[in-house]
Amino acid sequence: MEFESLKIIEPIIKALKKKGYVEPTPIQEKTIPLLLDNKDVIGIAQTGTGKTAAFVVPILQKLHEKIGNIKATIPKALILVPTRELAEQITESFKAYGTFLSLKYLVIYGGVGIRPQINNLQRGVDILIATPGRLLDLINQGKVNLRNIEFFVLDEADRMLDMGFVRDINKIASFLPKNKQSLFFSATMSEEITRLTKKFLKDPVRMEVTPQATPIEKIEQFIFFIDMENKIELLLDLIDQQKMSCVLVFVKTKHKADKVARALNQNHISADAIHGNKSQSQRQIALNDFKAKKIRVLVATDIAARGIDVKNISHVINFDLPNEPENYIHRIGRTARAGSKGTAYSFCSAEEREYLNQIERITKTKTPHAEHKYHSNLAKNATGRDAKPKPRTRGQRPSNRNGNNSKQGGSNWYDQKSNSSGRKNNKSGRRNSDFKNRSNNRNKNNQSKDKDNRNPKSRFNPRKSNSSRVRMGRTSHRR
Ligand code: AMP
Repeated sequence: MEFESLKIIEPIIKALKKKGYVEPTPIQEKTIPLLLDNKDVIGIAQTGTGKTAAFVVPILQKLHEKIGNIKATIPKALILVPTRELAEQITESFKAYGTFLSLKYLVIYGGVGIRPQINNLQRGVDILIATPGRLLDLINQGKVNLRNIEFFVLDEADRMLDMGFVRDINKIASFLPKNKQSLFFSATMSEEITRLTKKFLKDPVRMEVTPQATPIEKIEQFIFFIDMENKIELLLDLIDQQKMSCVLVFVKTKHKADKVARALNQNHISADAIHGNKSQSQRQIALNDFKAKKIRVLVATDIAARGIDVKNISHVINFDLPNEPENYIHRIGRTARAGSKGTAYSFCSAEEREYLNQIERITKTKTPHAEHKYHSNLAKNATGRDAKPKPRTRGQRPSNRNGNNSKQGGSNWYDQKSNSSGRKNNKSGRRNSDFKNRSNNRNKNNQSKDKDNRNPKSRFNPRKSNSSRVRMGRTSHRR
């Protein structure tokens, strides 16, 4: 199917072609005609399906047809999103697809100065893309007027609710006129979202492009059972041996994101971290460097990674498994964008075993596991209390799988500051500073890589059984 057959106007078709799009994706094919036909829509679509253009194109078209070149005044379309990154990304889409139109867009989010946003609002805006907190601030200050909103989009609605925005959404919605077209997009559908849609949408048409909570088929997925303290070693090996060049690594905490990025850099694998404690400009720099391939690895927490749209992410690595199974789908959807292929590796330690069970329940698949030199049967076979994170008491460090937090064997590598007293950092007896030493060996050893390492494919020998082998041949720098 061609874009022309969706009755998209010429200047937008021209812009889509300029972007290199040849034909609409399934969500675009289904949703664009409905939106042009004034319907309210619930779109259940994972990230990477082209869902942004599915609502951006019809909004641009309808607004252009209505107001043409008339000077912008107060906003006619509101796109509410959970994160700044997603807000920026959607704004970029409006600019790209609307490049031959004369509509005005404004992105507003917190963490940056409010004054320029107020000035821009006063100059006139057609389309507002906003995160809830800052928008409410501006509403409360009387700086933004939503009474002319004709299109209301709630994007990544499931994420909005996860992040506790439900009250803000209700509040913002109370400022919108009754008569408007509303669109909700979400990767998953929960009871709470259904409640919201009933409240805000009129006879909505439900669009689902891939069955709910089924991971994108094109993504090759593997589980690595491993003890927590070996995860960094495995990460370094995989990136190095498979010569990964564009890798998104997910971790559980901001602190850990910094630690993993540091360990990678110490081993000459260029990396940066992106998380909620970083300023907007730091986040943007990291993201730009990643897009421009100045760094090979971006280490992210779930929240900061929302809205990351980087083409050609070859691998997503779940260094920690997400505690909410839906996040697994969000995460792995960062690779294999718009129909390309991708790979997702997930490291599962004993205390994350139950998370894996939950993921497999919602994806309805048994993810193949890779055999590798750090394989942990303990992680693979953990059940009951051993398969869950140990409860932490106040002031206690995360405990190891034996339930103690001793700094001797079994402790979490990331939980140990480099220490000059030379305390052991993990079972191998390596200290934190040894991550640096390792990189020296790495350089030396690069020249004498075995044949196996030269051909990344040869490391995977998917078997008929539910497991695959990852051989990691180069060991000379170790232990
Ligand atoms: P989204 O799911 O909206 O985040 O889009 C995922 C990626 O697909 C983005 O990089 C878009 O630029 C790209 N994309 C969207 N629509 C198309 C299309 N029709 N053809 C090719 N790429 C597309």
